[in-house]
Formats: sequence, structure tokens, C-alpha cells
Amino acid sequence: MKAEIITSGTELLLGEVVDTNTPYLARELAAIGVNVYHHTTVGDNPKRLLRAIQIAEDRADMVIVSGGLGPTQDDITKAILAEHLQVELVVDPMSLQKAKTRYNTDEISKGNYQQALILDDSTPLQNDVGMAAGIYKETSTHTYVLLPGPPNEFEYMVSNYLLPKLVEVIGEEEILRSRNMNFYGLPEAKVAERLDDLIQNQTNPTVAVYAKNGIIDVRVTASGPTSAACETLLDAKEEEVLARVGDYFFSYNQTRLHESAFSELATEEATIALAEVLTDGATTDYWSRALEYPDVFKGGNVFTALEHAHTFYQMKDVEDLSPAAQAEHFAKAAKKLYQTDYSVAVIGWGPEDLQDAAQERVAWMSISLPNDEIITQTVDYSRSQNPARWILSLRVSDFVRRAVLGLPDLRNVE
Ligand code: AMP
Ligand code: MG
Repeated sequence: MKAEIITSGTELLLGEVVDTNTPYLARELAAIGVNVYHHTTVGDNPKRLLRAIQIAEDRADMVIVSGGLGPTQDDITKAILAEHLQVELVVDPMSLQKAKTRYNTDEISKGNYQQALILDDSTPLQNDVGMAAGIYKETSTHTYVLLPGPPNEFEYMVSNYLLPKLVEVIGEEEILRSRNMNFYGLPEAKVAERLDDLIQNQTNPTVAVYAKNGIIDVRVTASGPTSAACETLLDAKEEEVLARVGDYFFSYNQTRLHESAFSELATEEATIALAEVLTDGATTDYWSRALEYPDVFKGGNVFTALEHAHTFYQMKDVEDLSPAAQAEHFAKAAKKLYQTDYSVAVIGWGPEDLQDAAQERVAWMSISLPNDEIITQTVDYSRSQNPARWILSLRVSDFVRRAVLGLPDLRNVE
């Protein structure tokens, strides 16, 4: 099956709002084997929206339009499609009742009434998150899907209603199961190169590589008559993937990098503290946001200059200490202060005077283990024009993960 995605909204055309619906839907459709060859974005203009729908009809079996189902004047998608297909707009009783309940009145506004309209002889796609119903309409030649634009509503309806319906329609007896494996430390191109034979020869399961904010995802998708049959195929393919890039694997389903270490620390009932100097507080921010393991990560300090860290930890005679030795000092001091089993210190991008101009530019990180053994490493960022804060926080997190889980150091696996 071929589908085409049309996003509507003048704000998208003007670049004021970034279209996140298309990439989300495109990924989900790819995973269930629906081909998408074109993405279109069009403004809230009746003629051009109609034209976009007609063009899509010429090259796809299914036309999916996002946006324009709201209560305002520029929400035109339903009316355009109704006129184009020569069908009436009728009230979806459930959506109408929902609006009445929500606003606690029988006299709902014209805009809300409009939101409860669907195409005659179509299936409403329930919107449990917002007010505008989605629409699934089949004709003798095409399937049309209309969904509201707000990403939280759009994604919810795609995953809860549209995808199950499509799987039913296209799947017949086959079902699909996907597994998402996460990797860190090898560039996307290298991962793809190592998996090249698997990707070239893929049939069932299929293998796809994605990169997102420094993390590489490998998604393996199998089809089979039962869930168990799919899982067996996935297990075998996973083994082949791990044989090629297993040194860099850290989790399934986009767990955050540090959390595989933190879950281990939680099991050991161990704790960790952090001291960051000149890092923008990158790692503290990453670790303390959406905190999954508050008993593990006790906290940390962020310093905006080396001197501040020296003062805070009451360190004297630091002039002769190398940056690596200073990082080790900070790690030890943080451990003492927070009374933790592990502690980490990072000296980041900032201190130009610590950098050897002729050589590489580096950051330093040290971890103190429960037996007080200290491991220190540098992070080379000479080649990054823009050493982004999250790049360092990922690197620090992986360093900690490897130390805690006793895995080979990233530089050795490289
Ligand atoms: P609409 O359903 O067209 O009324 O869209 C409502 C709001 O959802 C818009 O104002 C945008 O902020 C947002 N939105 C619409 N389409 C998209 C899209 N494709 N990606 C991200 N946000 C969107
Ligand atoms: Mg709109």
C-alpha cells in the first residue's frame, strides 16, 4: 500500500511551527510496511489543499491529511474533502455528546458543532485527547484519513486508532512486531556500514538504522502468523545485529543512557554524586530531569569557574595540579560531601587556559568507584566546531555506565 502525507497549516509553510507530524507518521507507517513516497505541506487555502489532495490521489492509495479540523474559519479540510468526494457532512453523535459534556451545555458553539462533523459513510477516529474527531473514509479507489494537527492529539490517534486499523486492513493473517535497540558511541554511518549485509539482504525481519541526538536506534521489524513467531525471528536478527555492533548496545526502547547504569546502582542500593565545572551543567541537567532513580543520584554541584570549585571543596595548592588531577580531586571531594558510593567530576569546555593550544581540545572526567579506585578519561572535542552540552552529557553518562557495569572502556572498543 502507498500512502501520502499532507500537512496543512499556513504556520507550517511559514516555518513558524515545525512539522513534527510528518516524521512521526512516516516512521510509524514504515514500520508496518506502508510505503510513503511523498510528503506535502500546504497552507490553509482551499484551492491549494484540494490540489494537494488530487495530486496525492494520483500517486497513492491512501491520502492522510493532518490539520484543519479545528473550530475556526481556517479549518477547512473536512469541507474541502466532502465537496471533492460529493458527500455530506453529518454529525458524529459521540463527538457531539463529548462537546456537550465537556462544556456542560446543550447549546454548543458553531465551532464545536463543526468539530463534531464527519464525512457521511465514514468511520470516526476517536479523539480522547482533544475535541476534533478524526475521519477514516473509504471510497472505491482510495482511503482518506483526516487527523487533527496538534501533535499530542495526532500522535495519540495515530498510535491508538489509525495504526491498529491499518494493520488490520493490510495485515490479513500476518502480524508485525518491532524491536527498538539503542546504541551509543559509534557514528550512524559506521553502524550502517557494519550492518550493511543485514540491511542489503533484509526481507523478514527488516532492519533500519536511525540517529537521534547522538543515540543510534536500530529497529528490527518481523512479520509472522503469531506474536511468538515474530519474537523468534526478532531474537535471531537481534543476535546478528549484536554480533556486529554489540559493544555499543545499551538498551531497548530509548531508555536514557545513564539509566542503564542507574538501574544497576538501584539494585546494588548504591548512590552517586556529580561535580561539574564549566560544562553548562549539562550532565546534572540530563540526570536530574525526569528523575527515574532519585535514591541513586543524590545530586551535584555545577561550578562556573575552576576557582569556585577549589574554594567550595577547600582545595589548596592547586596551581601545580594537572586538569586530570583536579578532576580526580573534585570526584573525591564530591564523594565525601554527598556520602555516596560513586562520584563523578567533569571539567568541561570552558577553561581555555587548561587547553594545550597546539594539541587537541579536551574535557576531563573522573569517576571514583566504591573501593576508591579512580578512573579518569579525556573527551576529545577538537573536531567539533560546536561542542554541544548534550554531547558531553552523553559521553559522561556512557563513561559512568561502563565503569558501573564493568564494561570495556569506550576508547578500547573503538
Ligand atoms: P489544526 O489542527 O490545523 O487546527 O492545528 C492546530 C495546531 O497544531 C496548530 O496551530 C499548530 O500549532 C499545531 N500543528 C498543526 N499541524 C502540525 C504539524 N504538522 N506539526 C506540528 N504541529 C502542528
Ligand atoms: Mg491549522
